[in-house]
Amino acid sequence: VPVIGVLALQGDVREHLSALREAGADARAVRRPAELDEVGALVIPGGESTTMWKLAETFEILEPLRLRIKEGMPAYGSCAGMIMLADRIEGGVTGQQTIGGIDMVVRRNAFGRQVDSFESDIEFAGRGDLRAVFIRAPWVESVGDRVEVLGRTHAGDRIVAVRQGPLLATSFHPELTGDGRVHAYFVEMVRRDTRER
Ligand code: GLN
Repeated sequence: VPVIGVLALQGDVREHLSALREAGADARAVRRPAELDEVGALVIPGGESTTMWKLAETFEILEPLRLRIKEGMPAYGSCAGMIMLADRIEGGVTGQQTIGGIDMVVRRNAFGRQVDSFESDIEFAGRGDLRAVFIRAPWVESVGDRVEVLGRTHAGDRIVAVRQGPLLATSFHPELTGDGRVHAYFVEMVRRDTRER
């Protein structure tokens, strides 16, 4: 059983823990570097990326996170978590840092202030339509060569799901809809990654 952490600095941690357990993982909250050492993969939840960045510095876990990602730890970031996994961001606050790992530019609050949140069907990784919930969501502005686009909005054709090797990111929140397919996809990625090592 893969041991998967959920970064528990801020955001909807509990929902990801239960979605991961539904998908067959041993899921644990991760707040401190010592807890990060205990997991083989990590989910970075939705929430607020500026707060998450500041708390990551306070808890002295930002550098350990960068190191684990560099070493190839599988990770999945949803919404604010997608921002945290982006190598470059637009619309961040002054000095805002990310963990990085995915060669992409992510635009914060991209769908516009007037549309705080909305739901839309998107095609995910060739697995059919998925009901996606967007909450002050980012979109992916551009991606590098090694990034695979897994999902786009039907309206507007915006990139909202990507993968680069062991790293997965979505603009939306599958942990809020009770549709387990994205978490199942990630747990399968982690299983394969473990077998290949
Ligand atoms: N707008 C938030 C941010 O910049 C992300 C919103 C979310 O995670 N639901 O971090």
